[in-house]
Amino acid sequence: MNILILGSGGREHALAWAVKQNPKTDRLIVAPGNAGIAQLAECAAFDILDSAAVVAFCEANAIDFVIVGPEAPLAAGVADATRAAGFLTFGPSAQAARLEASKAFTKEICDACGAPTAAYARFTEAAAAKDYIRAQGAPIVVKADGLAAGKGVIVAMTEAEALAAIDDMFGGEFGAAGAEVVIEEFMTGEEASFFILTDGVHALPIGTAQDHKRVGDGDTGPNTGGMGAYSPAPVLTDAIAQRAMNEIVLPTIAEMARRGAPYQGVLYAGLMIKNGQGRLVEYNARFGDPETQVLMMRLGAQALDLLLACAEGRLDKAQVNWADDHAITVVMAAKGYPGAYQKGSVIEGLERMPEDSRHMTFHAGTATKDGQIVANGGRVLNITARGDTLADARNRAYAMIDLLHWPEGFCRSDIGWRAL
Ligand code: ATP
Repeated sequence: MNILILGSGGREHALAWAVKQNPKTDRLIVAPGNAGIAQLAECAAFDILDSAAVVAFCEANAIDFVIVGPEAPLAAGVADATRAAGFLTFGPSAQAARLEASKAFTKEICDACGAPTAAYARFTEAAAAKDYIRAQGAPIVVKADGLAAGKGVIVAMTEAEALAAIDDMFGGEFGAAGAEVVIEEFMTGEEASFFILTDGVHALPIGTAQDHKRVGDGDTGPNTGGMGAYSPAPVLTDAIAQRAMNEIVLPTIAEMARRGAPYQGVLYAGLMIKNGQGRLVEYNARFGDPETQVLMMRLGAQALDLLLACAEGRLDKAQVNWADDHAITVVMAAKGYPGAYQKGSVIEGLERMPEDSRHMTFHAGTATKDGQIVANGGRVLNITARGDTLADARNRAYAMIDLLHWPEGFCRSDIGWRAL
């Protein structure tokens, strides 16, 4: 098959790595890709938010299967366009992707299907939102309704912080994404991510993970896109996962179908776990980054078969061949991230890194310059390893990092600490 993957991060490198191992794959193209992806696939440059451009590329290259990585093209309706043009596509329609693109919509779905989540109220006007905050008190969570690159959520420990967040959001800090605000009950517990493939009718869990959002060791410092992840997440036991399927995931899938917007793709449920139950924090309409890196490391070549079964509506006949293994990914970022950082520093030692079914370096923000790999973003490399235990996987990942020479980069030294 000729396969097109849309995206350019570590997530897409991991997807490409898994897809490439499957004998069904003939030609593999990633748009736009990055320097690491270019080592295993063709990279193509066109605007992946432009549905017409994506369809034209599929037609010109006889693409058999399109896999959409990031949320922006999904929200822009790219999966609708490729499907309408007759191309088999993995990824939800823009309507269904509202489960990520609108927090108010997700709350509405939870209400309609009875999925456990934080109590909430919606506002389009500051005065009423502030009255609600004063009545509820802190801690409380203020969220811009729309996509805000992970920055539109303020977990306010004081009333003053929550009120200031209202001023920021209605003051236009997040543009149209902040025109409506959702205010939520503050939930306590341990967070974990649950990944489910669904073809709109059937659902198949494909793994659990936990990530580390804060930049510093011990989960301190500012929030980032994610500094590392591991799978499975021990806190998301089989019993809790089964309960989350019954109480949250399956009712959501049924409600979306009932509304005429069946959800096809990966449903990424962020759960807050406490007392044997998961409550929904958020849905994402795509694979997580860096969680995909650990999921793909564990699934390997079968990932393509699962994504195909999902896109073709036959997940009821699909199954995951689980190994009793653990995977971890450690993000290497440019010094300064998530604040200001330099681009262009040379990364040496990549050729010494092992690359096999237990070790892989997925590239996020890299580029090639004068034949060398250079940093080209905040999060730059995802050092990923698989082991018989989480400790084994972690030791392998940090041993790989020791082989690198990149003084301008840094990583956390404690990825996986909670589970270990
Ligand atoms: P991202 O996609 O980066 O995870 P997002 O903008 O989609 O972020 P959410 O996942 O909804 O936003 O919230 C971000 C984080 O805020 C969550 O991972 C969680 O730690 C915290 N959070 C969100 N809602 C609540 C809540 N009701 N109670 C406690 N913490 C919450």
